[in-house]
Amino acid sequence: MPLIEAFRQLLGDTAVLTREEDLAGLTEDWRGRFHAPALCAVLPSTTEQVAAIIRLCVAHDTPVLPQGGNTSLCGGATPSGQGKPPVIVALTRMRRIRSLDPVNNTMVVDAGCVLATVQEVAASAGRLYPVSLGAEGSCQIGGNIGTNAGGTGVLRYGNTRDNVLGLEVVLPDGSVWDGLYALRKNNTGYDLKHLFIGSEGTLGIITGAVLKLHPLPTAESVAWLAVDSPQAALKVLGLFQASCSSRLSAFELMNAKQIELVLEQVPGRRCPVAEIDAWHVLVELSDTGDAAALAATMQTVLEQALETGLVRDGVVATSEAQRKAMWLVRHSVSEANKKAGVGLTSDTAVPVSTVPDFIDQAMAAVRAIVPGLPFIIVGHMGDGNIHLIPFFSFAEWDALPNRDETAQRIRRAMNDVASSLRGTFSAEHGVGRTLTGEMIRYKPPVELALMRAVKQAFDPSGLFNPGRVLPPSSATEVTA
Ligand code: FAD
Repeated sequence: MPLIEAFRQLLGDTAVLTREEDLAGLTEDWRGRFHAPALCAVLPSTTEQVAAIIRLCVAHDTPVLPQGGNTSLCGGATPSGQGKPPVIVALTRMRRIRSLDPVNNTMVVDAGCVLATVQEVAASAGRLYPVSLGAEGSCQIGGNIGTNAGGTGVLRYGNTRDNVLGLEVVLPDGSVWDGLYALRKNNTGYDLKHLFIGSEGTLGIITGAVLKLHPLPTAESVAWLAVDSPQAALKVLGLFQASCSSRLSAFELMNAKQIELVLEQVPGRRCPVAEIDAWHVLVELSDTGDAAALAATMQTVLEQALETGLVRDGVVATSEAQRKAMWLVRHSVSEANKKAGVGLTSDTAVPVSTVPDFIDQAMAAVRAIVPGLPFIIVGHMGDGNIHLIPFFSFAEWDALPNRDETAQRIRRAMNDVASSLRGTFSAEHGVGRTLTGEMIRYKPPVELALMRAVKQAFDPSGLFNPGRVLPPSSATEVTA
């Protein structure tokens, strides 16, 4: 029986999408940079249906592309246009909150649950699910786990890897691994869940997860600071770390260009400080204790920073509305940048102490290629994760000679600087299809060989999200 007909029998007609207009939102990425056809998309409702879909794909030797909210920024979740068109397995119908245990501080969810829904359900039980990012209204838990998503809460709570205790996964042979352990301790051999976290759909489809919950903060204090330089921001970070320890929950850096674009492109946003021509820091403290004590700590550290001349100007949010407005500016950066032009975003992490060096050296290296190029800079400075974004207006981009080659040289220049500082070219977005060449350039051959061995063990036919994460064995640096 043809594959699509078999899917229809298994799932019903409405869960099998084949028409171009129905597939449109699934075959193009969020930024509109990648578009290629899929054989079809299937919308399973249960783990058993996912397993049956995979067995059919294997029987028809057809590639499988797991998809969550399709917010990948590295071309991980849309078809590549290489080889056979894949079957997109979209988990949008798998949105059950399976259980919540407030004593064990865990929640078991379907992988198709939207991140914002998970946060809300946790909050309604007086708990925090701390992973938070700009795409949280559409990205899914399965996609977060697939990419080991970071975001703005990493400084205090770690990334997705640190907030997942167990997984349920449909493997490339169609069998189901029930690893839904809700345990903080389990030393029984290799911890398999960590192989799937960050595997970007190349080792299996995550269908369920046990998430770790935290106490819901009862006090939050958010401030917006204008500083002269990334060096000054680093010193301010040091002051907060010394006084606040784990109560420091976010420390975000943006340059003036980033703020200008948000104000220009996203209606309703305003800069909390008068001086836009500065480096901007959003700092958040949170605690389960007394709100007044937390506000006093914020005030004390800010006074210290102002007195020592590290901070030019600063505003502390005095209401929930102001706090939200500050975070809205931060969470609007991707939308603003997408509307304004073409940015060649780096997803760099370096040791926190070398963030200013990275910014200086990488900007100089890029400007040696395109003199005078403006940069958007935004990032989770507290984690050493900086998105350095050489930026072109649409007109400049269209007029750029040897565009693909120039873009590649620019990316390389930034990644070479990161590498020289023992940093990484992908801190939180993943490798997807855009960075497989960097894997050849920067990963030690021993590490790449181990990764290939893992892929071979899990997916010997190579049907799961081919072309993502691992470059083909025959690829070389030149072709990458
Ligand atoms: P998708 O984009 O659908 O998929 C991403 C990858 O995971 C693909 O390789 C896919 O095959 C795989 N995958 C999806 N679901 C599954 C599954 N169930 N099982 C196995 N593999 C699966 N990322 C950050 O880390 N930090 C940020 O601060 C951040 N901010 C962002 C802001 C905006 C506005 C946008 C658009 C994106 C941002 N991202 C950020 C990137 C993106 O949101 C994350 O990578 C997110 O985790 C992707 O989730 P998703 O459900 O959209 O996954």
